Amino acid sequence: MKKTVKILAVIMAVVLIGAVFAACGKKQEETKKLVMATNAEFPPYEYHDGNAIVGIDAEIAGLIAEKLGMELVIEDVAFDSIIPGVQSGKYSMGMAGMTVNEDRLKSVNFSDSYATGVQVVIVKEGSAIKSIDDVAGKKIGVQTNTTGDIYATGDYGKNEDGTENGNVVRYENGAVAVQALLDNKVDCVIIDNEPAKSYVKANKGLTILETEYVTEDYAICFAKENTELQEQVNAALKELIADGSVQKIIDKYIPAE
Ligand code: GLN
Repeated sequence: MKKTVKILAVIMAVVLIGAVFAACGKKQEETKKLVMATNAEFPPYEYHDGNAIVGIDAEIAGLIAEKLGMELVIEDVAFDSIIPGVQSGKYSMGMAGMTVNEDRLKSVNFSDSYATGVQVVIVKEGSAIKSIDDVAGKKIGVQTNTTGDIYATGDYGKNEDGTENGNVVRYENGAVAVQALLDNKVDCVIIDNEPAKSYVKANKGLTILETEYVTEDYAICFAKENTELQEQVNAALKELIADGSVQKIIDKYIPAE
């Protein structure tokens, strides 16, 4: 090959490689990421299955992302860091069996509700705690900053002067709280009903009290300023509820008893 031809070939190759890279870059830019923050210790809403994070929330989020033409990325973080991370824009949304409440509404916006949760009490079989009325004065395990924590602290965790009485013991997640109950470090655990059922099924000697504590709505949270995504997700969610997709996912993970 002549020298000029060689140089030409090299230039062409460089241009071609450049074009391929540019095209790839563009393609990546086109599929926007929907980054969902969750705490994957909350079966059947989100939990680990091998390396994957699966569950009701993960699957609903997958369908929402599909409808929005976005790529779903799930980040597993402490429940406590979901709202701050959503507020700062680190995550596009938070979806973690998260209950809508007044306090959280001051920091984030919520989508329409897609599921109902009930706070229940897990005890060891044969426990002296027979109903929610027996919980006062006992050690109560909760997950930090969940609604179970908030209600238990308000109802049973304070002295008359408003200081904490030490009866509510906070754990990083439900699994750790349940382990503390098994180890007799607490007398009961207050947590959402579906994770409660999963934990009771997975561990011998535990039972759920029949009296339900509080009923609540689960929804997805967004940064206050991100109303565009909130509206898009609500529109997608509406369709997925209307066509039965959401119910189908819930039924898959929560079979009728
Ligand atoms: N529903 C409860 C709350 O929002 C618990 C959620 C969770 O632990 N993932 O606080």
